[in-house]
Amino acid sequence: MGDTVNRYQRAFTDWFGVENAFAFWKGRVALYAILKALDVKAGDEIILPGYTCVMDVNPIKYLGAKPVYVDIEPNTFNINPALLEGKITPRTRIIIAQHTYGYPCDMEAIMTIAAKKGIAIVEDCCLAFGSEYKGKIVGTFGKAAYFSFQWNKPFTTGLGGMLITPDDELSVKIQNVCDMQMCQPSAKEVFMLAAELFVYRMFIYPRTTTLAQQLFRFLTKKGAVVGSSSSTEFEPVMASDFFKAMSSVQARSGLRQIRKLEQNIVHRRRMALVYDRLLAEKGFPPRQYDKSVMDPVLVRYPLRIKGKNKAIEMAPSAGVELGTWFECPLHPVETPLEKYNYTPGMCVEAEKAAAETVNLPLHPRVSEKTIHRTIDFITRFRPVVPM
Ligand SMILES: *Cc1c(COP(=O)(O)O)cnc(C)c1O
Repeated sequence: MGDTVNRYQRAFTDWFGVENAFAFWKGRVALYAILKALDVKAGDEIILPGYTCVMDVNPIKYLGAKPVYVDIEPNTFNINPALLEGKITPRTRIIIAQHTYGYPCDMEAIMTIAAKKGIAIVEDCCLAFGSEYKGKIVGTFGKAAYFSFQWNKPFTTGLGGMLITPDDELSVKIQNVCDMQMCQPSAKEVFMLAAELFVYRMFIYPRTTTLAQQLFRFLTKKGAVVGSSSSTEFEPVMASDFFKAMSSVQARSGLRQIRKLEQNIVHRRRMALVYDRLLAEKGFPPRQYDKSVMDPVLVRYPLRIKGKNKAIEMAPSAGVELGTWFECPLHPVETPLEKYNYTPGMCVEAEKAAAETVNLPLHPRVSEKTIHRTIDFITRFRPVVPM
C-alpha cells in the first residue's frame, strides 16, 4: 500500500527535479504540513493573495497565525508585487505565491522582496501544473510548493495533495510532523472515493458536468459522498482527522494521470490558443501578461464579463460548463470573511475580479467543438477590460 504512494511521490520528485515529496489526502493538508514544519506559530503573519479559496486560509488559522491579504494584479489575478512590501511587518514569516488559474506569479519581484526581508516563499501550485516563469517550472522557486488533485485541478484523483521541497532540512521536519500527527483515511472514505472516481470517469463529460457537479454538491451536503469540503471547514477549527494520509487508490489514479501529463499540458496550451483566437474574432480584448517571462499552462480560461451572475444562471441550459471561482476574495461565497481576517474593501481588485470573472473549461475532455459552443454562449455577454 505505502508502495504505491511512494511511487507517486517519486513521480513528483522526478518531474520537478527536487529531492523530496510527500503525499496527502488533500492539498490543504500539504500546506498545513509545510507551515507546521516551518514552525509557524500563533501571532505569525502569512501573506497570500486576497483572491484565493478559504481552504487555503484554514491551515494558517489552525496554527493561530494571521492571514494577511495582498491585492491582485488584475490581468494575472496574482499578488501585485507593488503592494507586497507594504504588507510586510516584523511578524511576517511566509509569502504564499499562488499561481492563479495557471498564470505564474511575478517571481523575480516577489523573490527580491522576500530575500531582502528574510521571508520564506511557499508556492501554491494547485492551479498551475507545468507553467513556467523565465523557463523554469513553477513549484521550484520557493522553500516548498504544494499541489491539489481535487476535481477542478490540472489533473484529478478525486481528492489528493502533494508537497515538494528541495530543502532536506525542511523535509526531515515534515517527516517528523507526519510521524507525529498523520492519520490514515478510513476504509469507508477510501471506498467512497474510489466509487466517486469510477463514476467520474464513466459519466462526467463536458456536457453533463454542470449537472453532475450540482448532483455531486447536493450529495456532499447530504454527507453521502466524500466531498472536498465539509461545512465544518468554514470554521477555522481543525477537525481531529484533518491531517490525513493519501490512500493508495488516489496514488494509483495519480500515477495513471502522470503518464498522460505531457498530453494534458499540450492540450491545455493548444485549447487556450483556440479560445484566444475565437474571442478575438468576437472583438474581445486579448489576454495581458508578460509573455517574455511567463509561459502559463492554464487550468481554466478566466474571462471578465458584464453580467456574471446571469451567465452562470444561463450556462447549464446552454450546455456550457462555466466556472464561477473565485466568487469572493475567499471562495466560496459562504465563507464568513470576518472569521478569516478579511474586511470588505481590503483588496479592491480582487473583489472586482470576483464579481466579473468566469472561467471556461480546458480539461482533457474539452474539444474544439466544446470551445465553439462555450464561446458562442459567453460572447453574448460583453467583455470587461481591467483598469
Ligand atoms: C483547490 C485549491 C486548494 C486546496 O486544495 P484541496 O486539495 O481542495 O485541499 C488550495 N489552493 C488553491 C489555489 C486551490 O485552487
